[in-house]
Amino acid sequence: MVLHVAITLNATAIAADLSKVVIIKADDFTGTNGAWSDFLEVSRAAGVKVSIGVITKSIQENSPVQEWMRAQENNSDVEFWNHGWDHKGWITNGLSIGEFQGSGLAHQREHLIRSQASLKMLLGHDVIAFGSPGNGFDSDTALVMNESAVLSLFFTYTQNKKTEAARKLLANRIALLDIVPEADGTGKPNAAKLAVLLAKRPPGPVSLQFHPPRFDAPHLIEYKQILADLKAHGYTTMLPAEFVASLPARTANPSGTR
Ligand SMILES: [Zn+2]
Repeated sequence: MVLHVAITLNATAIAADLSKVVIIKADDFTGTNGAWSDFLEVSRAAGVKVSIGVITKSIQENSPVQEWMRAQENNSDVEFWNHGWDHKGWITNGLSIGEFQGSGLAHQREHLIRSQASLKMLLGHDVIAFGSPGNGFDSDTALVMNESAVLSLFFTYTQNKKTEAARKLLANRIALLDIVPEADGTGKPNAAKLAVLLAKRPPGPVSLQFHPPRFDAPHLIEYKQILADLKAHGYTTMLPAEFVASLPARTANPSGTR
């Protein structure tokens, strides 16, 4: 009986149709405010699950924000992910450096370890997904991600030629999920433009990136329209952990690179 159930579940997982799956990737959580409340209210009214990227340095242990985060996860429609430790960028020798791009192996390793540890303490469990600030990414990022035993999903521009070599260094066990950013710039979603873009994309799972803290009232309306459009076109939303669980097991060469 137990065996039968296991086989059925496995078959379901293999058969999962991911061609119309989206993951809502909401960036830059640093604490509670009206913008995040509005974003969650609109998402929940549409029956949409959302994943929220935390800038981990911002959140204090044993704070009301920590309590709020745990309460959201207890609703089973929110999952938090690692959006770095401090989200800082700077210029060195005329080059634009990000927390996870050009900052060096030691810096990236320290920041990934620190942010993962912080989230684990805040939420009471490991987070499995990572998306770097500004989606910066280089070979050092790949190496430090591979060192983490728990990361299994990376939000990244999967078609970006400039990061292709670094992407190939990532362990097979880390799934990649392409990103579609807000059409009119950071914090500025545009429902009509997104609909055109999605219609042109090949079928397949994708993450839709938003910056709720920057939404003004018209942008929140655009977001609401986007959720309505997704529903009308048969898309479903998944949380990162659900998405990873729906993928075929990458057991053949779990520690190998792609
Ligand atoms: Zn960010």
